[in-house]
Amino acid sequence: MPYLIVAGIVIVVLALMISFWYIILPVALLAWAAAVSPRLIRHFRKKRYFASEEFLARKAAIASVVEEHNEIAAYTSEIRNGGTFQLGVASTGAHAHLATFENTSNHNYRRDRNVASYQAPNVHNCSLQVVRNASSDPIKYLMKYFNIKAVESNLSDVERLGEEIARLEDAVDNLRQREASITGSFNPPPFILKYYADEFMAHVGVELSPISVPYPEYAFEYVSAGGNSGQKTTVTLNTATIDALIETLSQQIRFGKSAAGQRALMTAKLRNFIKTRDRHTCRFCSVSVAAEPHLLLEVDHIVPVSKGGLSTPENLQALCWRCNRTKSNKVLSV
Ligand SMILES: [Zn+2]
Repeated sequence: MPYLIVAGIVIVVLALMISFWYIILPVALLAWAAAVSPRLIRHFRKKRYFASEEFLARKAAIASVVEEHNEIAAYTSEIRNGGTFQLGVASTGAHAHLATFENTSNHNYRRDRNVASYQAPNVHNCSLQVVRNASSDPIKYLMKYFNIKAVESNLSDVERLGEEIARLEDAVDNLRQREASITGSFNPPPFILKYYADEFMAHVGVELSPISVPYPEYAFEYVSAGGNSGQKTTVTLNTATIDALIETLSQQIRFGKSAAGQRALMTAKLRNFIKTRDRHTCRFCSVSVAAEPHLLLEVDHIVPVSKGGLSTPENLQALCWRCNRTKSNKVLSV
């Protein structure tokens, strides 16, 4: 607000400095008032809404729901900080930091409009043909140029990444659902959501989480010698890409060694199967999605992967986020 008042003073001073001020000043002041008054009115309407009994009563009634939201926001940042969200493989550019690159052209006019990112670990600089082929066959090119060989250890690494991403995706999605439900239960006047959405959440007591899912990205990039043209294919490792990569890796492993890799694959399909099999109910505390529509349910390895547990349906169970958090790396008996 202060800048609007300063603008008003400036208008008065300027108008006084020039001739015909008695005509210009009222016109300028009217224009200023027309610009400022809607904001002022909105400001006071907002203050009145947040102080209203209706708002405060609703806020008190919903306090426990808000508290649970904030606990899940904290849990979401635990998941984010605990995971790596990277593949351990893919070594392109691993030694790029050992070299320095500079453009020594004397005539730099219009050059380097497109600069190849030689230092970035997940970027493969290549010909235009490879960029185009990668866009039509992303899994094959991802494996070939980022050194993801069809071996059991890489398959496990991709499955681990898929689980990390699905777990964080579910938590972030759960927060958004809870926020929508909290906002909906207040049913605030439209202008509040349009102009004061963040302030509304702060007044309600909701701690908004800035966390988004850090999907790893792999890029195939072509930049012409002069930097005048560039093309790029980006492969984002979201759940769909990861599942396709898991399927491809496992098929190639099976083809090579017929007996190996005959286990279940940790894909979105298997995670959904486990949740359905366990009737969307926590196997420890029996809380269910039927009883709690916004329940955050996770798929847990009964014997953790770090202790040799396999991704088989017998070793997987549905747990609510609270029980899974408590269990952490300890192996509890059901
Ligand atoms: Zn539970």
